[in-house]
Amino acid sequence: MYDVIIVGAGICGTSLARELSKYRLSVCCLERENDVADGTTKANSGIVHAGYDPLPGTQMAKLNVVGNAMVEQLCKDLDVPYRKNGSLVLAFDDDEMKTIQTLYERGVANGVPDLSILSGEEVAKLEPNLNPVKGALYAKSAGVVSPWELAIAQMEVAVQNGVELYLEREVNGITWNGESFAVTAAHNGETESYEARYLVNAAGVDADTIESFINEPPYHTKPNKGQYYLLDKSQGNLVHTVVFQCPSKLGKGVLVSPTAHGNLIVGPDSVDQPDKDDVSVTADRLAFIRNAAARSCSKINYRDSIRNFAGIRAQSEQDEFLIHYSPVTNQMVHLANIKSPGLTSSPAIALEVVEMLQKAGLVLEEKDSYQTTRRFPRFRELSEEEKKRIIEKDPRYGRIICRCESITEGEIVAAVHSPVPATTVDAVKRRCNAGMGRCQGGFCSPRVVEIIARELHRAPESICKDKAGSYILIGKTTKGEEKA
Ligand SMILES: Cc1cc2nc3c(=O)[nH]c(=O)nc-3n(C[C@H](O)[C@H](O)[C@H](O)COP(=O)(O)OP(=O)(O)OC[C@H]3O[C@@H](n4cnc5c(N)ncnc54)[C@H](O)[C@@H]3O)c2cc1C
Repeated sequence: MYDVIIVGAGICGTSLARELSKYRLSVCCLERENDVADGTTKANSGIVHAGYDPLPGTQMAKLNVVGNAMVEQLCKDLDVPYRKNGSLVLAFDDDEMKTIQTLYERGVANGVPDLSILSGEEVAKLEPNLNPVKGALYAKSAGVVSPWELAIAQMEVAVQNGVELYLEREVNGITWNGESFAVTAAHNGETESYEARYLVNAAGVDADTIESFINEPPYHTKPNKGQYYLLDKSQGNLVHTVVFQCPSKLGKGVLVSPTAHGNLIVGPDSVDQPDKDDVSVTADRLAFIRNAAARSCSKINYRDSIRNFAGIRAQSEQDEFLIHYSPVTNQMVHLANIKSPGLTSSPAIALEVVEMLQKAGLVLEEKDSYQTTRRFPRFRELSEEEKKRIIEKDPRYGRIICRCESITEGEIVAAVHSPVPATTVDAVKRRCNAGMGRCQGGFCSPRVVEIIARELHRAPESICKDKAGSYILIGKTTKGEEKA
């Protein structure tokens, strides 16, 4: 019997796992996919929003501002790429200047620090590559983060502090007997059972399905897709801040921003769709994004685009995070409608949930020994002296596997043997950037497959690109004896 089961290992589940691992509790996390951060958390803008967008008095506003203030230290502690580069909301005419004024006042009411309204000239000085504007809202506290690395790092810390992570476990039933929960999960065609006194539903866009196992959800999920362009680092300096347009009914609009890794990201759009899993990208929506972004900046060179991708927003008819106890028992907390700014808010959401669980009777005793930090070796960031030393200790750091990003065999091996081991090509990519560059793994993927297979003593044919079943190799084209 666990004290707490968390369903879902996105940014909310992993933030909560890290927070709960500070206490003397037995905690497990059940995740459907073969890696953490494989849902919406890996496919979003990666912006640490300042907090002027949500309406004052909402939980969204409070958690956004608190979360924003927590992310910087968290990224330092966990060695996660983060840049506090500030954000601009551009106004192109007098009407939009009124929206800027409203957002400024909302930000002040929400407690957002370092907000100001800039003139068109000031914007041009800050961002010379933008098209001329009337003015902008400048929020210095905004930033960019690597969302999947933040989630992975938090789960690594949680695991090192005793949390048990079970991947490829799809929760398909929950019952409550008045004291505890019995949870069933599908794993490799079998059904496994888990028990816990407290349960947290952090299943993202599928939170309604998990909630429906125990009570009728008080909302209707309307999945909403956002598509993107990711451009090469050659475009990464086109703008320095996160550049938004004025928000509309459809959301925060199309942004242009450097990413935490130094690429340029352009998007997203916003389209409702019935399917929670359809992350396809389409030519018409990408054309829409290019046209919309051209209003902010007409200098983006899409010939340097290296990838398109899409993420699914967990949306409903309510414009608010729906963090609530189950009407059946306070021992279950649902995290529903965690749309943007869910990534920014996630550390604060975790604190909120811990407080809710405590109010529901969970006893929190701090551990004497809690490991707060975590480090990942990044060869390209080391000094010449440090590089020499690490290669002397482990020659695998002297072999570059991903040429675009300068990622060494040592880093890939470290990812495969990390506290949340990478077992797929994309899991390696998410941990050490191999395959994130201009060629998107064209050159290094076969070597990465070889290294994963070697390190895990598995057949190369069994290594997937990403989700279960995404096999890369199906057999040999030439048998050994057929070679000339
Ligand atoms: C296009 C887009 C742009 C965004 N931009 C930003 C931004 O710039 N800044 C920001 O702050 N926020 C942003 N967001 C919002 C942010 O990405 C989300 O709020 C956040 O990632 C949600 O995290 P989560 O943990 O709730 O969900 P997820 O990351 O989806 O995690 C849920 C997990 O639950 C698992 N799961 C589901 N069902 C089951 C089951 N039955 N059993 C076991 N596991 C299950 C899933 O596999 C998944 O791993 C954006 C969202 C989108 C879609």
